[in-house]
Amino acid sequence: MRLNDVITDCINLKLSGTATDTFIQCYGGNILSKDKPVLAIEVSSKENLIWMMKGATNAHIYINSNAFHINALYEPTDRFPAARIYFVKSEDLFWVGHIGAYIEQHGIKLAPVNDDNFSKLIDDAGYAQRYKSWHEKRKADSSLFDGLLVGRLQNTTIDQGIWLSSGGRCLVCGEKTDRMATSTVWGKSGMMIGMQLCLAHETESQKQSLLLNYLSKHLGGIVMFSNMRPQTTEEMLEQTCEILKVNFKCTIVKAERETVTARRLSGIFVVIRHQSPSNYAYIILVPDGKQLSRVDSANHHKVPYGPDHVHFDLRKSTKNVVEASFTYGNVGLDMKLLLKLIQEAEDKL
Ligand SMILES: [Zn+2]
Ligand SMILES: [Zn+2]
Repeated sequence: MRLNDVITDCINLKLSGTATDTFIQCYGGNILSKDKPVLAIEVSSKENLIWMMKGATNAHIYINSNAFHINALYEPTDRFPAARIYFVKSEDLFWVGHIGAYIEQHGIKLAPVNDDNFSKLIDDAGYAQRYKSWHEKRKADSSLFDGLLVGRLQNTTIDQGIWLSSGGRCLVCGEKTDRMATSTVWGKSGMMIGMQLCLAHETESQKQSLLLNYLSKHLGGIVMFSNMRPQTTEEMLEQTCEILKVNFKCTIVKAERETVTARRLSGIFVVIRHQSPSNYAYIILVPDGKQLSRVDSANHHKVPYGPDHVHFDLRKSTKNVVEASFTYGNVGLDMKLLLKLIQEAEDKL
């Protein structure tokens, strides 16, 4: 996702420059670096630049390595340690004159800024300290999310996580909260987005969410909410069969109501039972029909991020040894862990 697209979308939604910048602060935490005291974003048009200048702390022309930068600068805040700079640049003095005149027509005066003043504007001397306290706070706020992400990277098709930081407050209304909400956008692979929302906005976001529709649009995937319109049993069954055939190279033995039984060339059976994302099981059976391993959602074990868990080996003594599975209850997303279980089963044949 490009920050520039975020800006264009915010402007299309008629968010003010300040509100757009707030949004950028949420995303920007994912790419902020310890060594760079500014988050610089080249905007795509002079209209967008004017828009961003309207809420900026400072608008100016800055020259470095022979290029002219026309900057809308937002100073560091309590929740974001780096200045944000929205800019256009060129080496052409004629162009600078032209843009400068255009900007002045909009009532904004551009002052030239030298290195010293630029340093002061972004307060780079205090950046290391600001970054340190910000980073610690962010780590604490996102620790629940980070743990979930590690598990999902390992077991599901999720390959990226984005934490929308809002500093221990609800992303929408700013009320203090320690709740974490996540949402998953996926097409070929998946991205998990985490944010902090108060209870009211968590409930509301589950009904619909601009933010996630937005993300979905940009990633060309579909958005999965924990309680979006559930697929019908028929749709789910059809999807499961397709994945078993295409991705798992299985032959379908039986598909009935919410359960599909399929067989690998090796003779291993894979049974997928899916009643809902909170009531499902994936079972691997050896050719004689004995269960070897299983992922299920029964609330029988105390696991972090549960109740979903995996039994890696159902042979007697290890039957009740489980680990958090981090699964979604959607075969498409949970493929990685399932393939691993199949592989392990076949290695034991
Ligand atoms: Zn709220
Ligand atoms: Zn179980």
